Amino acid sequence: MERTLAIIKPDAFAAGNAGKIISRIYQEGFRIVGMKKLFLSKVEAEGFYAVHRERPFFAELTDFMSRGPCVVMALEADNAIRRWRDVMGATNPAQAAAGTLRQEFGASIGENATHGSDAPETAAFEIAYFFAGVELL
Ligand code: GDP
Repeated sequence: MERTLAIIKPDAFAAGNAGKIISRIYQEGFRIVGMKKLFLSKVEAEGFYAVHRERPFFAELTDFMSRGPCVVMALEADNAIRRWRDVMGATNPAQAAAGTLRQEFGASIGENATHGSDAPETAAFEIAYFFAGVELL
C-alpha cells in the first residue's frame, strides 16, 4: 500500500466540483485516510510548493492556491502515486486525456483542478505538511 497527497484546488472547489472529484476517488478504489478543507495563506502555499520557488510561475501558483478554500486528502491504494496522477491527467488540461479530472475540470496549466504527489519522497513531505499522524486513520 502506498499513500499520496491529493488536493482539490481552489478553482475546482469554487466551481462546486469537490463532490464529483471525491466520488471519482472512491470509484477508482482509493481509501481516503485523511481529508480536510483549508484556506491556505500565501505563506502556507509557498511552503507547500517550496520546490518550485525558482520557477517563473511560482508567484502566480501560490497566489492561486491561496485564493480560496481547497480540500487536501491523503489517499491510499496500491501504486497510489502513479494511479492518482493517471486519474488527474497531464498538468496542462489542454493536453490531458479524455476522462481525466484535469481534462474535465481544469481550465489552464495553472488552474488545473487537482494536485497529486509525484514521488514517494514528495508524498511523505506533502502528507506531513498537512496532517498529523493521528489524523491519518
Ligand atoms: P504537476 O505535478 O502535474 O502538478 O505539475 P508541476 O509539478 O510541473 O507544477 C506544479 C503546479 O504548478 C501545476 O499543477 C500547476 O498548477 C502549476 N504550473 C505548472 N506550470 C505552470 C505554468 O506554466 N504557469 C502557471 N501559472 N502555473 C503552472
